[in-house]
Amino acid sequence: MNTEFILQAVQAVNAAILGHESEIESLDREIGDGDHFINMKRGCATIVAMHDELAGLTADAALQKIGMKLLSTIGGASGPLIASFFMAMAKAVKEQGAETLPQIATAFAAGVEAIKSRGKAGLGEKTMLDVLIPVSQVFTKLTDEGAERPVIFAALNAEAEQGMLATRELIATKGRAAFLGERAIGHIDPGAKTSQVVICTICDLALNS
Ligand code: ADP
Ligand code: MG
Repeated sequence: MNTEFILQAVQAVNAAILGHESEIESLDREIGDGDHFINMKRGCATIVAMHDELAGLTADAALQKIGMKLLSTIGGASGPLIASFFMAMAKAVKEQGAETLPQIATAFAAGVEAIKSRGKAGLGEKTMLDVLIPVSQVFTKLTDEGAERPVIFAALNAEAEQGMLATRELIATKGRAAFLGERAIGHIDPGAKTSQVVICTICDLALNS
């Protein structure tokens, strides 16, 4: 994973988020306050606009800069969580590189751990972590086993989809949806949906590059 790939991913994720506007917006209107799409859109637009500034940086410096910028641009509960993901990933990439898939899986796991500790949440709380934790576990397992790239990316796509759909049956214990109690059942978590969209977009990009 080099800076060129990160810049391509930024463009692709921006397009994918914009393409899911109505779905993401309505999910947060149902069990949140309706701002999740706007938060994500603002974050993506800000990073897209940083293209030239990021292009001259190493991958770890680019990830760190993205994290710091997102901290001040995405509002809500999700802003600091997503920012902490990028900063933890940056640290891991700086320490051990991101040339191989096992290294990228390790960096991704560090990012997910940062979200867990920042948000004091884990699996089954109806958040973005219900996508990110299982995806990270499968990523680590398959890269450790030396699985082929197409197998890995297909598995990550499937895991993200399954984790996102599973949030429908959960009660939220973190974030705004926690106030709804059982009324949150039947609705997919908006952060889980955006996480799934982002993961699928990056997996497709990685497969085709
Ligand atoms: P806000 O909830 O402040 O309006 P957003 O609408 O941008 O912020 O983001 C809501 C999403 O943030 C939720 O759908 C959920 O996935 C995620 N989220 C909220 N709290 C936590 C937490 N403690 N840990 C992990 N993710 C969380
Ligand atoms: Mg919201």
